[in-house]
Amino acid sequence: MNIDFKNLAQKYQTPYYAYDFNHITKQYKELKGAFKARKSLISYAIKANSNLSVVKHLADLESGADCVSIGEVKRALKVGIPKYKIIFSGVGKTDEEIKQALEFDILMINLESEAELHRVELMAKELNKEARISIRVNPNVDPKTHPYISTGLHENKFGVDINTAKRMYISAKKSEFLDPIGIHCHIGSQLTELTPIKEAVIIVADLVRNIKAALDIELKFFDVGGGLGIVYDNEKLIDTYEYAQVILDALFGLDVTVVCEPGRFIVGNSGYFVTKVLYEKTNGDKRFVIVDGAMNDLLRPSLYNAYHKIEVLNNNSEKSKCNVVGPVCESGDFFAKNIELPLTQHDDLMVIHSAGAYGFTMASNYNTRGKVVEIALENGDDRVIRDRESFEDLIVLEEKYL
Ligand SMILES: *Cc1c(COP(=O)(O)O)cnc(C)c1O
Repeated sequence: MNIDFKNLAQKYQTPYYAYDFNHITKQYKELKGAFKARKSLISYAIKANSNLSVVKHLADLESGADCVSIGEVKRALKVGIPKYKIIFSGVGKTDEEIKQALEFDILMINLESEAELHRVELMAKELNKEARISIRVNPNVDPKTHPYISTGLHENKFGVDINTAKRMYISAKKSEFLDPIGIHCHIGSQLTELTPIKEAVIIVADLVRNIKAALDIELKFFDVGGGLGIVYDNEKLIDTYEYAQVILDALFGLDVTVVCEPGRFIVGNSGYFVTKVLYEKTNGDKRFVIVDGAMNDLLRPSLYNAYHKIEVLNNNSEKSKCNVVGPVCESGDFFAKNIELPLTQHDDLMVIHSAGAYGFTMASNYNTRGKVVEIALENGDDRVIRDRESFEDLIVLEEKYL
């Protein structure tokens, strides 16, 4: 897709996020298609990009939702994702969140500890309901991704080990307030190797067979988590058909619906963060390009040292190494270090690629900077899907106390 970033900058000012909705459609359909040999549910992980219009776009494609807070559940319901396609995960659900999830009657609550199982049972008892649950198993495989986004090793806080999972299924089966219907694993994010996924699904599928034989519990949903990687630099990606095949092979003989919870894969490459050059300067012989966007808008470089491709929209062939930095008062406020870029001038535009996932959703108001405008691009048109925040927006909850 050829996007006129300059025109968008004139129309909406900078910085801005723009998302190609046609790309989102393509990604969703590709993954859904890969699982067509079986019953499947693609539950989009809302935390990757939770803009209501993005979630609505996925709702219109018949996607479900994977949520990690009751706020995300409410976003999903708000745009018409049916309750029976909504899953609630996360290691630290509050009593209030659990109760609301039960009242909304969503598909299932994904349990991440024994303590949580007891809490959910208690809440269900109070409401006199039966809670549909799944258990997040930590298969202890190394997903070979960044440590901050690796979740499937015992050293991570996520899920429970296999023996604990078995105990939990036994308790759930005994309880009149719990209905164990699913199993879940999510080993990490930005996965680019198929082998760890294969190892994990084989371990979890064996567990499903085991609890069927030993405990007479027949699970209906096999949730393989999300985590499919995207291109930031020159990664070689997992082929979605091979991915689906590995999962379907592991499930041989089991009558389960496959659930997949992609976030980044659906929206990551759809998004662009566009910022404007303010100044260039050199400290000693170090070149800095200072732009109007900052770590509060796109945190991934600062948080994970993540790489994003950066493109300068000018015709200057003279290049040199530089750091691209924002105006925030932190040395950690950078988008890239030691990259080769053309010399720039005031107002030159810079496009930061692959910013559709964990970009805007991680934004903050640090340094009293309003969150930037979000724009949808679809079938050649552009439209605002969230206004740029004004100073008044930022102080509205404080001002009344002066
Ligand atoms: C974050 C998360 C996802 C989505 O991860 P991606 O890497 O964006 O696909 C899926 N499931 C769970 C439980 C998560 O926490």
